[in-house]
Amino acid sequence: MSKVTEKSLKEKVTSMNMGALRETLFGIKVDRGLKGYTVQLVYRDSTPPETLLSQGSASEADACISGVAQTALVFKAVQGTHKPAFTPTEIFVKQGGERCPKCATRDINPGHIKKTGDLQEQYYTCSRCETKWNNRFRLEGYEIIDAA
Ligand SMILES: [Zn+2]
Repeated sequence: MSKVTEKSLKEKVTSMNMGALRETLFGIKVDRGLKGYTVQLVYRDSTPPETLLSQGSASEADACISGVAQTALVFKAVQGTHKPAFTPTEIFVKQGGERCPKCATRDINPGHIKKTGDLQEQYYTCSRCETKWNNRFRLEGYEIIDAA
């Protein structure tokens, strides 16, 4: 296995941005800082970038970038090129479910939560592009905040 270097990471990111991610709403960016590598999703509009990895090693950065490449490729194969692009689930989850899966704005409106089988679903609408979707949650328990 060849050694992962800052140069090889930047080359990989560039080829992804020109290739698999070309028709998506975001690109990927890698930076080397004093404490290690930072990998971010950067959006093609004015929404702020999303950090996927900070202070990582070169091999962690490489794995992180490969993960995004894979989900983007699978997503592209499933969606084809003529349908509207929605954020792949794995990336949506990495974004914390805080952005519209179509236009990536944070200007979204949470609605009611309902139980569906083992999952909870929370209805959302986008203020910008009017997409409607459900965020899906698994209930893990509860925590008393203030016992009466
Ligand atoms: Zn939207």
